[in-house]
This record gives sequence, C-alpha cells and structure tokens, in this order.
Amino acid sequence: MRPFTHTIPFDEARAIINGAVRPIDRQERIALGEASGRVCAADVVSPRDVPPFSRAAMDGYAVVAEDTTRASRQSPTMLRLVERVFTGHPPRVPVVSGMCSEIATGAPLPHGTDAVVMVEDTQIDGDIVRIFAAVAARQNVGAQGADIRAGQTAIRKGDVLTPSRLGAVAALGFTDVDVFVRPTVAVLSTGNELRNPGQSLAPGQIYDINTYTLSAIVRNHGCVPVPFATAEDTHEALDGAIDACLTCDVLVLSGGSSVGERDLILDAIRRRGEVVFHGIALKPGKPTAFALVDGKPVFAMPGNPTSCLSNAYVLMVPALRHIARLPPHRAGVVSLPLGQPIVSPAGKHQVCTVCIVGGEAMPAFKSSGDITSMSQADGYIEIGAETDIVAKGTTVLVTLF
Ligand code: AMP
Ligand code: MG
Repeated sequence: MRPFTHTIPFDEARAIINGAVRPIDRQERIALGEASGRVCAADVVSPRDVPPFSRAAMDGYAVVAEDTTRASRQSPTMLRLVERVFTGHPPRVPVVSGMCSEIATGAPLPHGTDAVVMVEDTQIDGDIVRIFAAVAARQNVGAQGADIRAGQTAIRKGDVLTPSRLGAVAALGFTDVDVFVRPTVAVLSTGNELRNPGQSLAPGQIYDINTYTLSAIVRNHGCVPVPFATAEDTHEALDGAIDACLTCDVLVLSGGSSVGERDLILDAIRRRGEVVFHGIALKPGKPTAFALVDGKPVFAMPGNPTSCLSNAYVLMVPALRHIARLPPHRAGVVSLPLGQPIVSPAGKHQVCTVCIVGGEAMPAFKSSGDITSMSQADGYIEIGAETDIVAKGTTVLVTLF
C-alpha cells in the first residue's frame, strides 16, 4: 500500500485538465445527411443567392403594386389575368399595368410585377380579377438573395451543425461539409475480476460496467468511444493494453488507480509519460489521476462505477467537449429545496446524487460501488469543499442526468 499523502482541490484538478487539453485539428469532409451535431471546420460561403429568384410568399396574384393603390372592398381594382404561374416553372408572360398573373407560394415573380395580393383579398370572375386591398411594392414577395446573398458566409468555422444550420448548407446546394474529426477515446477497464456481459461469472467475478457507462458518455459529448478488451492487473497486461490505447486521441482508463497492492495503472502510465496529478479532494472519486502520454490526455478513473461515472460528468465531459470543439455542455438544471440534510466531508468537493420526490431533492447516494446510486437518481448536486453541512430546505441546484 502507498497511501495518498496529497490530494489537490477539485477546482484545481479541473483547471489543470482544461488547461492541458487542446481542440482537435483533424478534419474530414462528410455528407450533409451525416453531419448533424458535428463542428464545421471551414466557413461556408454562399456561391449563390437564396432564394435564387424573387418569389411569391403567398398564394394570390402577382401585380404591379401601383395599380392597387386605391383598391378596397367597396371599390375594387379590376385586373386582367394573363397567366397562371406555378412553382418550378418560370413565368412566360410579362405583366404590365392593368394585368396580373395568378401565382402560387414559391413560384417566380413574373417580369413586370413587384408585389403579390393574397388570394383572400381577391375575387376571380373569368379572366377578371377583383383586388380588394392595396399592396406596397415588395409586399408578399421573397426577394432574390433576401435569405442569403452570394458571397455571404452562411456558416462559420466552429459552428455546431444544428438542424437549422444543416438547412442553410442545403439551401446553398452543397452535398458535403467540412467538419472536425470526432476525437477517438480509448475506453479501458482494468481488473482481474471483470468479465464482459454475456460471459459466465466464476466465483469472485463481476461484469464490467465502466466500459459501458464511459462509452455512452463519450459518445454523448461529440467523441467516438473505442472500447478495448479489459486488462488484468499485471504490468505486462497493462503495458500492452495502454500501448494499444495510444492509437486514440484520449485515453480513459478505469480501475487500479488507487493505492492497493494490485493498483498498477499509475506505474504503467509513469513508464510512458507524465502523471500530472494523482488524488483529488473529491467525494466520490478521490483516486483519480490525470496524465499526459505522447501529449495525449489520460484519465485514470477509480474502478467503482459511481466514482468513475461521477468523475466522467464533472471532469471528463468539459475536457472532451473542448477537444471536440463543442461549446460547454448546457445541462438541465433545476433549483429545488433539499429534502434531507447532507453532511459533507470537510475540505472535499462532493458530488451527491439526488432523486426528485414531491418537489424536493432527496439524497440518492448509496455507495460508490453501487451503480444504482446513479441509475435510480434524477441528477446530482455539487457541494463545495468549504461547506460541511447543507441543511434541509436549502435551495440546491440539481444538474439533471
Ligand atoms: P479498483 O479501482 O480497481 O480498486 O476497483 C474498485 C472497485 O470497483 C472494485 O470493487 C472493483 O471490482 C470495481 N470495479 C473496477 N472496475 C470495474 C468495472 N469496469 N466495472 C464494474 N466494477 C468495477
Ligand atoms: Mg481493481
């Protein structure tokens, strides 16, 4: 045993990690249909006006606006219908004063017209159209280029491709878009006792949980999880496994990060790179290390599933998003009265899972070995190192899962 002699404050740990990680530079070009949620890697400049032609914004009649100046219900203006214009086909007949064309929403405005009278303000009788309301020039018209002008930057480098931004790229006619590559994250569970779901359990064995929790959270925050086969607690196995993981951009290891006889992961990391810190004044999740190997960030998480996942939320997610060039996560947060007092260890930052019951936040934490400490909770609250007790009824901020 090599007990912790020093732990660093949680805020410092987070600051060190955030200061050590760099946004990814690799780019790829992908199909628009695959690009949802990806981060744009180059400004998208419009090669054309959108819409490419002036068009009707309403079903009605395309007119010379001046003709309608005096139109009213009592004294309609009469115009002669010269053409019916539908979407997808250019109008053929130019319109001059005293005439009009029927027009569908989205159809190109006929030459000579500058406004559309909506159909509700008209009445047709043979080829005579009665106009009951005046329209101003450009009224009910979507002008060429009014949405996006040729040469205009429609999407900027670094923008996340939300549904509407994908729509803007589609409006320009592009089939592909340049995006930053999603960082790959090696996920490695370590421990002699671990088996994969689906395998049979011998006495003393348990199923690997962390590969699944970590992979899911990695995927939820813009990165690609690359799960590796669980490694045994031997120097040889850990060396081989970590070397294999170094093909990825980020490494997230779990288990063996504490100070026990078989906790060998720190030694394996030290043989390859620099351990930046080991041990955080954090509950749960104290035996956590952060290292750099070949310039790659390495998170060595505790094996206890709740400690591991809790750390992933509070320490790993901000870093992964920064690497993936995503903006900070905006988790749902609700403000509720605490239903039961919580005693928090002095000098430690605490992450405490809670259930929302009857409008109150009730502590849900069982033990850091119990995944149900989180799976049956609605979210978590964070209690700063300086606070040692949070009284019942105190308003707390619950970060929802
Ligand atoms: P360790 O951090 O290796 O000392 O493990 C602490 C506890 O977490 C032990 O009870 C381990 O059996 C358990 N544990 C470690 N890794 C995992 C894992 N991937 N899935 C589920 N439990 C784990
Ligand atoms: Mg272990």
